[in-house]
Amino acid sequence: ATQPYDDSNIFAKIVRGELPCTKVDETEHSLAFHDINPLAPIHILVIPKGPYVSWDDFSAKATEAEIVDFTRLVGKVARDNGCVEQGYRMLANIGKRGGQEVPHLHVHIFGGQPLGPMLA
Ligand code: 5GP
Repeated sequence: ATQPYDDSNIFAKIVRGELPCTKVDETEHSLAFHDINPLAPIHILVIPKGPYVSWDDFSAKATEAEIVDFTRLVGKVARDNGCVEQGYRMLANIGKRGGQEVPHLHVHIFGGQPLGPMLA
């Protein structure tokens, strides 16, 4: 398993409404908002609201309702933001070697431009 969940992380504060975000969509168990430092014309983060650091935590501990809700919201956000026809990238940085900066699971959705083989 990964590190214990630290509920003082930035995304936990966004979920609790203690920090603002530019909301794109929200469901019972998940939230989508614009990345504060966009690396592409479309750069949206989708997070489960629950206390999951990593994909390991989420896939093992989340309820089926949370997993379905999150999976569907990632797809809906791509669809609603015009990413599907031209293609887009979804990416999760996990842990130290994965370059994860915020210890609350998040999927990046990048779109609106050709993305090349990978982002640096
Ligand atoms: P990662 O953990 O996958 O490396 O990236 C974290 C992402 O969260 C970065 O793209 C960064 O710009 C974004 N980010 C960090 N702090 C905030 C914040 O307070 N609000 C928003 N909307 N995005 C943030």
